[in-house]
Amino acid sequence: MAEPLIFDLSKDGCRGFTLPALDVPEVDPADHIPARFLREELPLPSMSELDVVRHFTRLSRLNHSVDIGFYPLGSCTMKYNPKVNENMARLPGFANLHPQQPEESVQGALQMLKTLEESLAEITGMDAITLQPAAGAHGELTGLLIMKAYHRKKGNHKTKIMIPDSGHGTNPASCSMVGYEVVNIKSDPRGGVDIEDLKSKLGPDIAGLMITNPNTLGLFDENIGELAHLVHSVDGLVYYDGANLNAIMGWTRPGDMGFDIVHLNLHKTFSTPHGGGGPGAGPVGVKKHLEAFLPNPRIQFDGKKYRLQTKCRESVGPVLGSLGNFLVLVRAFAYILVNGREGLKNVSAYAVLNANYMMQRLKKTFDLPYDRFCKHEFVLSGKGLARHGVKTLDVAKRLLDFGFHAPTVYFPMIVEESMMIEPTETESKGTLDCFCEAMEMIAREAAENPDNLKNAPTKTPVRRLDEATAARKPDINYFQKPE
Ligand SMILES: *Cc1c(COP(=O)(O)O)cnc(C)c1O
Repeated sequence: MAEPLIFDLSKDGCRGFTLPALDVPEVDPADHIPARFLREELPLPSMSELDVVRHFTRLSRLNHSVDIGFYPLGSCTMKYNPKVNENMARLPGFANLHPQQPEESVQGALQMLKTLEESLAEITGMDAITLQPAAGAHGELTGLLIMKAYHRKKGNHKTKIMIPDSGHGTNPASCSMVGYEVVNIKSDPRGGVDIEDLKSKLGPDIAGLMITNPNTLGLFDENIGELAHLVHSVDGLVYYDGANLNAIMGWTRPGDMGFDIVHLNLHKTFSTPHGGGGPGAGPVGVKKHLEAFLPNPRIQFDGKKYRLQTKCRESVGPVLGSLGNFLVLVRAFAYILVNGREGLKNVSAYAVLNANYMMQRLKKTFDLPYDRFCKHEFVLSGKGLARHGVKTLDVAKRLLDFGFHAPTVYFPMIVEESMMIEPTETESKGTLDCFCEAMEMIAREAAENPDNLKNAPTKTPVRRLDEATAARKPDINYFQKPE
Protein backbone atom coordinates (compact mmCIF):
# COMPACT_ATOMS: atom_id res chain seq x y z
CA MET A 1 0.00 0.00 0.00
CA ALA A 2 1.40 3.35 -1.03
CA GLU A 3 0.71 5.41 2.07
CA PRO A 4 3.26 5.00 4.91
CA LEU A 5 2.31 5.12 8.57
CA ILE A 6 2.30 8.57 10.11
CA PHE A 7 5.21 7.52 12.34
CA ASP A 8 7.30 6.85 9.26
CA LEU A 9 6.43 10.27 7.85
CA SER A 10 7.49 12.00 11.04
CA LYS A 11 10.44 14.44 10.76
CA ASP A 12 12.30 15.37 13.92
CA GLY A 13 11.81 19.00 14.86
CA CYS A 14 8.84 19.53 12.57
CA ARG A 15 5.94 21.42 14.17
CA GLY A 16 2.24 21.57 13.34
CA PHE A 17 1.90 24.90 15.15
CA THR A 18 3.83 27.15 17.49
CA LEU A 19 2.52 29.07 20.45
CA PRO A 20 3.29 32.77 20.98
CA ALA A 21 5.83 33.66 23.66
CA LEU A 22 4.53 33.27 27.20
CA ASP A 23 3.22 36.57 28.64
CA VAL A 24 2.12 35.19 32.01
CA PRO A 25 4.25 33.69 34.81
CA GLU A 26 5.39 30.17 34.05
CA VAL A 27 3.99 27.36 36.22
CA ASP A 28 5.17 23.84 36.71
CA PRO A 29 2.50 21.51 35.28
CA ALA A 30 3.38 18.94 37.93
CA ASP A 31 1.93 21.32 40.55
CA HIS A 32 -1.49 21.13 38.89
CA ILE A 33 -1.75 17.84 37.06
CA PRO A 34 -1.29 14.44 38.67
CA ALA A 35 2.05 13.01 37.59
CA ARG A 36 0.47 9.95 36.01
CA PHE A 37 -1.10 12.16 33.35
CA LEU A 38 2.20 13.79 32.40
CA ARG A 39 4.01 11.66 29.88
CA GLU A 40 6.84 13.50 28.18
CA GLU A 41 8.34 10.46 26.49
CA LEU A 42 5.31 9.72 24.27
CA PRO A 43 6.68 8.96 20.80
CA LEU A 44 4.22 11.20 18.93
CA PRO A 45 4.98 11.97 15.29
CA SER A 46 6.25 15.46 14.35
CA MET A 47 4.70 16.88 11.21
CA SER A 48 3.50 20.10 9.67
CA GLU A 49 -0.22 20.78 9.59
CA LEU A 50 -0.31 20.43 5.80
CA ASP A 51 1.43 17.06 5.89
CA VAL A 52 -1.06 15.83 8.48
CA VAL A 53 -3.98 16.94 6.31
CA ARG A 54 -2.49 15.28 3.24
CA HIS A 55 -1.71 12.04 5.04
CA PHE A 56 -5.24 11.58 6.33
CA THR A 57 -6.87 12.75 3.11
CA ARG A 58 -4.81 10.20 1.16
CA LEU A 59 -5.77 7.50 3.63
CA SER A 60 -9.45 8.40 3.34
CA ARG A 61 -9.25 7.95 -0.42
CA LEU A 62 -8.14 4.35 -0.01
CA ASN A 63 -11.48 3.53 1.53
CA HIS A 64 -15.01 3.28 0.23
CA SER A 65 -17.66 5.49 1.83
CA VAL A 66 -21.27 6.58 1.28
CA ASP A 67 -19.98 9.93 0.07
CA ILE A 68 -17.99 8.19 -2.68
CA GLY A 69 -20.32 5.52 -3.98
CA PHE A 70 -23.23 3.12 -3.57
CA TYR A 71 -22.92 1.01 -0.43
CA PRO A 72 -25.64 -1.68 -0.41
CA LEU A 73 -24.30 -3.50 2.68
CA GLY A 74 -27.37 -5.43 3.85
CA SER A 75 -28.62 -4.78 7.39
CA CYS A 76 -26.19 -1.89 7.79
CA THR A 77 -28.25 0.92 6.20
CA MET A 78 -25.36 2.77 4.65
CA LYS A 79 -27.38 5.75 3.50
CA TYR A 80 -26.57 9.37 2.91
CA ASN A 81 -25.91 11.38 6.07
CA PRO A 82 -27.39 14.84 5.44
CA LYS A 83 -24.81 17.54 6.08
CA VAL A 84 -27.31 19.67 7.99
CA ASN A 85 -26.97 17.13 10.81
CA GLU A 86 -23.26 17.91 10.93
CA ASN A 87 -23.93 21.63 11.13
CA MET A 88 -26.21 21.09 14.12
CA ALA A 89 -23.66 18.89 15.90
CA ARG A 90 -21.07 21.65 15.43
CA LEU A 91 -23.14 24.38 17.10
CA PRO A 92 -20.90 25.56 19.94
CA GLY A 93 -23.72 25.15 22.49
CA PHE A 94 -23.76 21.43 21.72
CA ALA A 95 -20.18 20.77 20.67
CA ASN A 96 -18.49 22.42 23.66
CA LEU A 97 -20.42 20.75 26.47
CA HIS A 98 -18.72 18.64 29.09
CA PRO A 99 -20.51 15.49 30.27
CA GLN A 100 -19.92 16.43 33.92
CA GLN A 101 -21.39 19.94 33.71
CA PRO A 102 -23.97 20.78 36.39
CA GLU A 103 -27.53 20.32 35.14
CA GLU A 104 -28.46 24.03 35.55
CA SER A 105 -25.89 24.83 32.86
CA VAL A 106 -27.14 22.26 30.31
CA GLN A 107 -30.89 22.81 30.38
CA GLY A 108 -31.06 23.18 26.58
CA ALA A 109 -29.15 19.95 26.01
CA LEU A 110 -31.40 18.09 28.44
CA GLN A 111 -34.46 19.51 26.71
CA MET A 112 -33.13 18.28 23.38
CA LEU A 113 -32.52 14.79 24.83
CA LYS A 114 -35.95 14.66 26.46
CA THR A 115 -37.65 15.76 23.23
CA LEU A 116 -35.69 13.15 21.30
CA GLU A 117 -36.82 10.50 23.81
CA GLU A 118 -40.43 11.58 23.28
CA SER A 119 -40.08 11.54 19.50
CA LEU A 120 -38.62 8.04 19.54
CA ALA A 121 -41.33 6.88 21.94
CA GLU A 122 -43.93 8.09 19.46
CA ILE A 123 -42.13 6.55 16.47
CA THR A 124 -41.86 3.15 18.18
CA GLY A 125 -45.13 3.17 20.13
CA MET A 126 -43.32 2.66 23.43
CA ASP A 127 -43.85 4.49 26.75
CA ALA A 128 -40.28 5.36 27.72
CA ILE A 129 -36.88 5.52 26.05
CA THR A 130 -33.28 5.50 27.20
CA LEU A 131 -30.74 7.13 24.91
CA GLN A 132 -27.72 5.74 26.74
CA PRO A 133 -26.67 2.65 24.78
CA ALA A 134 -23.82 3.40 22.41
CA ALA A 135 -24.78 0.99 19.61
CA GLY A 136 -27.34 -1.59 18.55
CA ALA A 137 -25.68 -4.51 20.29
CA HIS A 138 -25.30 -2.35 23.40
CA GLY A 139 -29.04 -1.65 23.22
CA GLU A 140 -29.68 -5.39 23.06
CA LEU A 141 -27.58 -5.91 26.15
CA THR A 142 -29.47 -3.14 27.95
CA GLY A 143 -32.88 -4.50 26.86
CA LEU A 144 -31.98 -8.00 28.03
CA LEU A 145 -30.73 -6.72 31.39
CA ILE A 146 -34.14 -5.05 31.73
CA MET A 147 -35.83 -8.34 30.86
CA LYS A 148 -33.76 -10.10 33.48
CA ALA A 149 -34.56 -7.47 36.11
CA TYR A 150 -38.28 -7.86 35.35
CA HIS A 151 -38.22 -11.64 35.87
CA ARG A 152 -36.08 -11.34 38.98
CA LYS A 153 -38.55 -8.91 40.52
CA LYS A 154 -41.46 -11.24 39.78
CA GLY A 155 -39.55 -14.22 41.16
CA ASN A 156 -39.76 -15.97 37.79
CA HIS A 157 -37.20 -18.67 37.11
CA LYS A 158 -36.45 -18.19 33.44
CA THR A 159 -33.34 -19.41 31.68
CA LYS A 160 -34.01 -19.33 27.93
CA ILE A 161 -34.67 -16.90 25.13
CA MET A 162 -36.12 -17.89 21.79
CA ILE A 163 -34.40 -16.50 18.70
CA PRO A 164 -35.47 -17.25 15.12
CA ASP A 165 -32.69 -18.54 12.85
CA SER A 166 -33.29 -15.50 10.60
CA GLY A 167 -32.31 -13.08 13.40
CA HIS A 168 -29.31 -10.77 13.40
CA GLY A 169 -26.06 -12.31 14.63
CA THR A 170 -25.83 -9.96 17.59
CA ASN A 171 -29.10 -11.32 19.07
CA PRO A 172 -27.78 -14.70 20.30
CA ALA A 173 -24.48 -13.08 21.28
CA SER A 174 -26.27 -10.57 23.53
CA CYS A 175 -28.36 -13.35 25.12
CA SER A 176 -25.23 -15.27 26.00
CA MET A 177 -23.70 -12.15 27.53
CA VAL A 178 -26.51 -11.83 30.07
CA GLY A 179 -26.43 -15.56 30.79
CA TYR A 180 -29.54 -16.74 28.94
CA GLU A 181 -29.57 -19.93 26.95
CA VAL A 182 -30.58 -19.47 23.30
CA VAL A 183 -33.38 -21.59 21.86
CA ASN A 184 -33.18 -21.56 18.09
CA ILE A 185 -36.52 -21.28 16.24
CA LYS A 186 -36.75 -22.47 12.63
CA SER A 187 -38.02 -20.48 9.69
CA ASP A 188 -41.01 -21.64 7.67
CA PRO A 189 -40.95 -21.97 3.86
CA ARG A 190 -42.12 -18.34 3.44
CA GLY A 191 -39.18 -17.07 5.48
CA GLY A 192 -41.19 -16.24 8.60
CA VAL A 193 -40.98 -17.82 12.06
CA ASP A 194 -42.16 -21.45 12.03
CA ILE A 195 -44.98 -21.00 14.50
CA GLU A 196 -45.38 -24.73 15.20
CA ASP A 197 -41.68 -24.95 16.10
CA LEU A 198 -42.09 -21.96 18.41
CA LYS A 199 -45.17 -23.49 20.09
CA SER A 200 -43.37 -26.79 20.66
CA LYS A 201 -40.54 -24.99 22.50
CA LEU A 202 -42.74 -22.68 24.58
CA GLY A 203 -42.67 -23.37 28.31
CA PRO A 204 -42.31 -21.83 31.78
CA ASP A 205 -38.51 -21.51 31.39
CA ILE A 206 -38.87 -19.09 28.44
CA ALA A 207 -37.82 -15.56 29.46
CA GLY A 208 -38.74 -14.08 26.12
CA LEU A 209 -38.54 -13.91 22.37
CA MET A 210 -35.99 -11.74 20.63
CA ILE A 211 -36.93 -11.12 17.04
CA THR A 212 -35.33 -9.13 14.25
CA ASN A 213 -38.24 -7.77 12.22
CA PRO A 214 -38.12 -7.49 9.29
CA ASN A 215 -35.73 -10.41 9.63
CA THR A 216 -32.36 -10.70 7.91
CA LEU A 217 -34.14 -11.90 4.76
CA GLY A 218 -35.81 -8.47 4.65
CA LEU A 219 -39.19 -10.12 5.33
CA PHE A 220 -41.81 -8.84 7.74
CA ASP A 221 -43.17 -11.67 9.86
CA GLU A 222 -46.77 -12.33 8.87
CA ASN A 223 -47.67 -13.61 12.36
CA ILE A 224 -45.89 -10.98 14.40
CA GLY A 225 -48.88 -10.23 16.65
CA GLU A 226 -49.53 -13.89 17.33
CA LEU A 227 -45.87 -14.51 18.20
CA ALA A 228 -46.02 -11.76 20.80
CA HIS A 229 -49.26 -13.15 22.19
CA LEU A 230 -47.91 -16.72 22.46
CA VAL A 231 -44.79 -15.64 24.33
CA HIS A 232 -46.79 -13.44 26.70
CA SER A 233 -48.94 -16.48 27.54
CA VAL A 234 -45.98 -18.01 29.43
CA ASP A 235 -45.07 -14.65 31.04
CA GLY A 236 -42.25 -14.16 28.58
CA LEU A 237 -41.36 -10.72 27.24
CA VAL A 238 -41.06 -9.88 23.57
CA TYR A 239 -38.02 -7.98 22.31
CA TYR A 240 -38.07 -6.25 18.93
CA ASP A 241 -34.73 -5.72 17.20
CA GLY A 242 -35.61 -2.49 15.39
CA ALA A 243 -32.12 -1.67 14.13
CA ASN A 244 -33.59 -1.47 10.63
CA LEU A 245 -36.61 0.65 11.43
CA ASN A 246 -36.30 2.24 7.99
CA ALA A 247 -38.40 -0.74 6.88
CA ILE A 248 -41.52 0.28 8.80
CA MET A 249 -41.04 3.74 10.27
CA GLY A 250 -44.22 5.80 10.17
CA TRP A 251 -46.34 2.85 8.95
CA THR A 252 -46.47 0.57 11.96
CA ARG A 253 -44.92 0.45 15.42
CA PRO A 254 -43.40 -2.32 17.57
CA GLY A 255 -45.45 -0.99 20.50
CA ASP A 256 -48.69 -1.55 18.56
CA MET A 257 -47.59 -5.08 17.67
CA GLY A 258 -47.50 -5.93 21.38
CA PHE A 259 -43.76 -5.68 21.99
CA ASP A 260 -42.36 -4.88 25.45
CA ILE A 261 -38.83 -3.82 24.49
CA VAL A 262 -37.32 -2.42 21.30
CA HIS A 263 -33.96 -1.05 20.31
CA LEU A 264 -33.21 1.27 17.40
CA ASN A 265 -30.00 2.12 15.61
CA LEU A 266 -29.84 5.88 15.19
CA HIS A 267 -26.68 5.35 13.12
CA LYS A 268 -28.77 3.43 10.60
CA THR A 269 -32.36 4.63 10.31
CA PHE A 270 -31.69 8.14 11.61
CA SER A 271 -28.76 8.81 9.30
CA THR A 272 -25.89 9.45 11.69
CA PRO A 273 -22.54 8.39 10.20
CA HIS A 274 -21.22 4.96 11.08
CA GLY A 275 -18.76 2.37 9.97
CA GLY A 276 -15.22 1.80 11.08
CA GLY A 277 -16.50 1.41 14.63
CA GLY A 278 -17.35 5.11 14.92
CA PRO A 279 -19.77 6.36 17.55
CA GLY A 280 -23.35 5.15 17.24
CA ALA A 281 -26.47 5.18 19.37
CA GLY A 282 -28.80 2.30 20.20
CA PRO A 283 -31.71 3.74 22.23
CA VAL A 284 -34.02 1.27 23.94
CA GLY A 285 -37.76 1.75 24.34
CA VAL A 286 -39.96 -0.08 26.83
CA LYS A 287 -43.59 -0.27 27.85
CA LYS A 288 -44.81 1.20 31.13
CA HIS A 289 -44.34 -2.02 33.15
CA LEU A 290 -40.59 -1.95 32.43
CA GLU A 291 -39.91 1.77 32.78
CA ALA A 292 -38.55 1.49 36.33
CA PHE A 293 -35.75 -0.78 35.11
CA LEU A 294 -34.34 1.66 32.53
CA PRO A 295 -30.73 2.74 33.03
CA ASN A 296 -30.18 5.77 35.25
CA PRO A 297 -29.82 8.68 35.33
CA ARG A 298 -33.21 9.44 33.80
CA ILE A 299 -34.06 12.90 32.52
CA GLN A 300 -37.04 14.39 34.37
CA PHE A 301 -38.92 17.63 33.70
CA ASP A 302 -40.85 19.20 36.57
CA GLY A 303 -42.54 21.83 34.40
CA LYS A 304 -39.72 24.33 34.97
CA LYS A 305 -36.40 22.54 34.99
CA TYR A 306 -34.81 19.45 33.62
CA ARG A 307 -33.13 17.25 36.20
CA LEU A 308 -31.14 14.06 36.24
CA GLN A 309 -32.87 11.48 38.37
CA THR A 310 -30.24 9.08 39.70
CA LYS A 311 -32.12 7.46 42.57
CA CYS A 312 -34.04 4.87 40.60
CA ARG A 313 -34.07 1.86 42.90
CA GLU A 314 -34.99 -0.78 40.35
CA SER A 315 -32.84 0.56 37.51
CA VAL A 316 -30.35 -1.77 35.88
CA GLY A 317 -27.85 1.06 36.48
CA PRO A 318 -25.97 3.23 34.00
CA VAL A 319 -24.78 1.48 30.83
CA LEU A 320 -22.56 4.35 29.68
CA GLY A 321 -20.46 6.94 31.48
CA SER A 322 -22.67 9.76 30.22
CA LEU A 323 -26.18 10.33 28.89
CA GLY A 324 -25.31 8.72 25.57
CA ASN A 325 -23.18 9.57 22.56
CA PHE A 326 -24.48 13.11 22.75
CA LEU A 327 -23.46 14.52 19.37
CA VAL A 328 -24.81 11.44 17.60
CA LEU A 329 -28.11 12.11 19.35
CA VAL A 330 -28.02 15.75 18.17
CA ARG A 331 -27.62 14.54 14.57
CA ALA A 332 -30.52 12.11 14.85
CA PHE A 333 -32.73 14.79 16.39
CA ALA A 334 -31.91 17.17 13.53
CA TYR A 335 -32.83 14.41 11.07
CA ILE A 336 -36.21 13.87 12.74
CA LEU A 337 -36.99 17.61 12.78
CA VAL A 338 -35.96 18.13 9.16
CA ASN A 339 -38.06 15.20 7.92
CA GLY A 340 -41.10 15.56 10.12
CA ARG A 341 -43.87 13.03 10.25
CA GLU A 342 -44.47 12.77 6.49
CA GLY A 343 -40.77 12.80 5.68
CA LEU A 344 -40.00 9.89 7.99
CA LYS A 345 -42.87 7.94 6.48
CA ASN A 346 -41.40 8.57 3.05
CA VAL A 347 -37.97 7.39 4.23
CA SER A 348 -39.29 3.87 4.75
CA ALA A 349 -41.61 3.99 1.75
CA TYR A 350 -38.68 4.72 -0.56
CA ALA A 351 -36.34 2.29 1.21
CA VAL A 352 -38.88 -0.49 0.61
CA LEU A 353 -39.64 0.61 -2.95
CA ASN A 354 -35.95 0.69 -3.87
CA ALA A 355 -35.35 -2.79 -2.45
CA ASN A 356 -38.33 -4.28 -4.28
CA TYR A 357 -37.35 -2.56 -7.52
CA MET A 358 -33.89 -4.13 -7.46
CA MET A 359 -35.18 -7.50 -6.29
CA GLN A 360 -37.60 -7.74 -9.23
CA ARG A 361 -34.82 -7.01 -11.68
CA LEU A 362 -32.06 -9.13 -10.15
CA LYS A 363 -34.19 -12.21 -9.60
CA LYS A 364 -34.04 -12.72 -13.38
CA THR A 365 -30.27 -13.27 -13.10
CA PHE A 366 -29.71 -14.68 -9.60
CA ASP A 367 -31.62 -17.13 -7.42
CA LEU A 368 -34.17 -15.53 -5.12
CA PRO A 369 -34.92 -18.11 -2.43
CA TYR A 370 -37.89 -16.27 -0.87
CA ASP A 371 -39.89 -14.69 -3.65
CA ARG A 372 -42.32 -12.32 -1.94
CA PHE A 373 -42.45 -8.57 -1.28
CA CYS A 374 -39.49 -7.55 0.82
CA LYS A 375 -39.06 -4.59 3.13
CA HIS A 376 -35.79 -2.60 3.25
CA GLU A 377 -33.55 -5.38 1.89
CA PHE A 378 -33.59 -8.73 0.09
CA VAL A 379 -31.39 -11.79 -0.12
CA LEU A 380 -30.18 -13.44 -3.31
CA SER A 381 -28.26 -16.67 -3.60
CA GLY A 382 -25.12 -17.05 -5.71
CA LYS A 383 -25.40 -20.86 -5.71
CA GLY A 384 -26.29 -20.92 -9.43
CA LEU A 385 -22.77 -19.71 -10.24
CA ALA A 386 -21.21 -22.85 -8.75
CA ARG A 387 -21.38 -24.54 -12.16
CA HIS A 388 -18.81 -21.99 -13.39
CA GLY A 389 -16.62 -22.57 -10.32
CA VAL A 390 -17.55 -19.14 -9.02
CA LYS A 391 -18.73 -18.21 -5.52
CA THR A 392 -20.62 -15.32 -3.97
CA LEU A 393 -17.31 -14.08 -2.56
CA ASP A 394 -16.00 -13.66 -6.13
CA VAL A 395 -19.06 -11.62 -7.11
CA ALA A 396 -18.55 -9.41 -4.06
CA LYS A 397 -14.89 -8.83 -4.95
CA ARG A 398 -15.67 -8.10 -8.59
CA LEU A 399 -18.24 -5.46 -7.60
CA LEU A 400 -15.39 -3.45 -6.03
CA ASP A 401 -13.84 -3.08 -9.48
CA PHE A 402 -17.04 -1.38 -10.62
CA GLY A 403 -16.75 1.15 -7.78
CA PHE A 404 -19.52 -0.35 -5.63
CA HIS A 405 -19.29 -1.60 -2.10
CA ALA A 406 -20.24 -5.27 -1.93
CA PRO A 407 -23.48 -6.42 -0.32
CA THR A 408 -23.34 -8.35 2.96
CA VAL A 409 -22.33 -11.88 1.98
CA TYR A 410 -22.71 -15.31 3.61
CA PHE A 411 -25.32 -13.89 5.97
CA PRO A 412 -28.05 -14.88 6.73
CA MET A 413 -26.70 -18.40 7.00
CA ILE A 414 -30.06 -19.98 6.18
CA VAL A 415 -29.46 -19.05 2.52
CA GLU A 416 -26.66 -20.80 0.64
CA GLU A 417 -24.08 -18.40 -0.88
CA SER A 418 -26.21 -15.47 0.26
CA MET A 419 -25.99 -11.84 -0.85
CA MET A 420 -27.97 -9.43 1.30
CA ILE A 421 -28.68 -6.20 -0.56
CA GLU A 422 -29.96 -3.02 1.10
CA PRO A 423 -30.15 -0.08 -1.31
CA THR A 424 -31.61 2.46 1.21
CA GLU A 425 -33.97 5.27 0.25
CA THR A 426 -31.33 7.88 -0.55
CA GLU A 427 -30.24 6.32 -3.87
CA SER A 428 -31.57 7.43 -7.24
CA LYS A 429 -33.10 5.08 -9.79
CA GLY A 430 -30.03 5.75 -11.94
CA THR A 431 -27.69 4.40 -9.26
CA LEU A 432 -29.86 1.34 -8.65
CA ASP A 433 -29.90 0.61 -12.39
CA CYS A 434 -26.10 0.96 -12.63
CA PHE A 435 -25.63 -1.51 -9.80
CA CYS A 436 -28.06 -3.99 -11.37
CA GLU A 437 -26.20 -3.68 -14.67
CA ALA A 438 -22.90 -4.43 -12.94
CA MET A 439 -24.44 -7.50 -11.27
CA GLU A 440 -25.77 -8.73 -14.62
CA MET A 441 -22.43 -8.14 -16.30
CA ILE A 442 -20.66 -10.06 -13.53
CA ALA A 443 -23.07 -12.98 -13.98
CA ARG A 444 -22.19 -13.04 -17.70
CA GLU A 445 -18.48 -12.85 -16.91
CA ALA A 446 -18.86 -15.78 -14.53
CA ALA A 447 -19.93 -17.93 -17.47
CA GLU A 448 -17.59 -16.50 -20.10
CA ASN A 449 -14.49 -15.47 -18.23
CA PRO A 450 -14.61 -16.67 -14.60
CA ASP A 451 -10.99 -15.62 -13.98
CA ASN A 452 -12.14 -11.98 -14.03
CA LEU A 453 -14.06 -12.78 -10.88
CA LYS A 454 -11.46 -15.07 -9.33
CA ASN A 455 -8.74 -12.41 -9.68
CA ALA A 456 -10.87 -9.50 -8.54
CA PRO A 457 -10.46 -6.90 -7.29
CA THR A 458 -7.82 -5.41 -9.56
CA LYS A 459 -8.67 -1.71 -9.29
CA THR A 460 -8.59 -1.25 -5.52
CA PRO A 461 -5.60 -0.04 -3.44
CA VAL A 462 -5.07 -3.61 -2.23
CA ARG A 463 -5.89 -6.84 -4.05
CA ARG A 464 -7.69 -9.81 -2.55
CA LEU A 465 -6.85 -10.21 1.12
CA ASP A 466 -6.42 -13.34 3.16
CA GLU A 467 -9.50 -12.63 5.24
CA ALA A 468 -9.03 -15.49 7.70
CA THR A 469 -5.55 -14.35 8.69
CA ALA A 470 -6.60 -10.70 8.72
CA ALA A 471 -9.34 -11.54 11.24
CA ARG A 472 -7.48 -14.10 13.34
CA LYS A 473 -3.99 -12.65 13.52
CA PRO A 474 -4.38 -8.91 13.02
CA ASP A 475 -1.10 -7.06 13.39
CA ILE A 476 -2.17 -3.62 14.49
CA ASN A 477 0.64 -2.62 16.81
CA TYR A 478 3.36 -0.40 15.38
CA PHE A 479 5.70 -0.25 18.34
CA GLN A 480 5.76 -3.77 19.67
CA LYS A 481 5.53 -6.15 16.76
CA PRO A 482 4.50 -9.60 17.96
CA GLU A 483 7.14 -12.28 17.44
C1 LIG B 1 -26.74 -3.48 12.83
C2 LIG B 1 -27.67 -4.37 13.52
C3 LIG B 1 -27.47 -4.70 14.88
C4 LIG B 1 -26.24 -4.30 15.66
O1 LIG B 1 -26.04 -2.93 15.72
P1 LIG B 1 -24.58 -2.34 16.07
O2 LIG B 1 -24.79 -0.88 16.20
O3 LIG B 1 -23.69 -2.73 14.96
O4 LIG B 1 -24.14 -2.95 17.36
C5 LIG B 1 -28.43 -5.48 15.49
N1 LIG B 1 -29.49 -5.95 14.82
C6 LIG B 1 -29.70 -5.67 13.50
C7 LIG B 1 -30.92 -6.21 12.82
C8 LIG B 1 -28.80 -4.87 12.82
O5 LIG B 1 -29.00 -4.62 11.53
